[in-house]
Amino acid sequence: MMKIAIAGAGAMGSRFGKMLQDADQDVTLIDNWAAHVTRIQQHGLLFHLPEGDATVAFPAFTPDALKPQHFDLIILFTKAMQMAGMLEDIQGVIDQDTKILVLANGIGNVETIERFVPRKQIIAGVTVWSAELDGPAEVTLTGTGSVSLQAVAPDAANEAFLTQLVAVMNQAHLNVTVSPSVIEAIWKKAAFNSVLNTYTSLISCNVGEFGSFSHRDALITSTLHEIAQVATGLKVPFDEPATLALIMSQFAPGQNGAHYASMYQDLAKNRLTEIDYLNGYVAKKGAELGIPTPINNTLTALIHCREELNQMQAK
Ligand code: NAD
Repeated sequence: MMKIAIAGAGAMGSRFGKMLQDADQDVTLIDNWAAHVTRIQQHGLLFHLPEGDATVAFPAFTPDALKPQHFDLIILFTKAMQMAGMLEDIQGVIDQDTKILVLANGIGNVETIERFVPRKQIIAGVTVWSAELDGPAEVTLTGTGSVSLQAVAPDAANEAFLTQLVAVMNQAHLNVTVSPSVIEAIWKKAAFNSVLNTYTSLISCNVGEFGSFSHRDALITSTLHEIAQVATGLKVPFDEPATLALIMSQFAPGQNGAHYASMYQDLAKNRLTEIDYLNGYVAKKGAELGIPTPINNTLTALIHCREELNQMQAK
């Protein structure tokens, strides 16, 4: 049995926690939202599932209440901008044999984690599973998904762990494969989000509405081209035509037309967005490399304006 902590037990952390615990793994939830943790401790975590509701008991702690102990694996599932705070808070339960798995969206998460943990302990990936946090200790899970992951600094010891981890996660039906180039997958997903999430959030529209706009192609291709140039500058393999095709495929009838992006929902609920790990990361790296990224700079600034406006209006 693998001893697993989910650090950031929100929507996605709860999903992965449930699926792993259902497959007989030893799962502990860690979250700093006190009302959420208290409710899980007292009543369990309520899941709305296609087959009906289920309430599941978990050991759950805020980071300050966590006793020193060894975890084989910590799955980091905060938002990208919360990751450093989480890693600071859980330093006491990370030892030299603890592997850290990060599947959060955005670029630059590995750079954040390696400030706290040696690279050989980090496994990075992307996932297309989804989940929704409805309130304290209440989550909705629909649909299926998959995970693609890779050790950040492969060596014999972490390759052996990876083999074990893939088996454990697949027993939990998480549909995991090992990627030969997870950085490419991370950039592709981030580029997709940097176009669709950012524009649909700024315009306040769903994916289908964005796909019907006359200026759509110019917005998409110009933003994507800057991202491709920065990726190339960083020597990250980036398939610009394939990423463009993936974005365009979302507008086909019967695809995701009615979908509102998670960034749109974050802004609607007055939460901060992951923009600094999407367009903002591209803009920052572009500046370091001397590659102009005026579009990504502007998009980042506009999303921050929306965040600030939300905060002003909430006062
Ligand atoms: P979420 O906001 O539902 O969950 C994050 C949790 O982390 C929250 O419960 C929060 O209280 C907790 N947290 C934040 N900082 C903390 C700290 N310092 N200490 C302890 N707990 C802390 O977010 P989510 O939707 O589960 O997303 C997590 C990541 O997965 C993001 O990068 C997101 O983009 C990505 N993702 C989400 C989905 C989805 O469908 N929700 C799908 C794919 C990828």
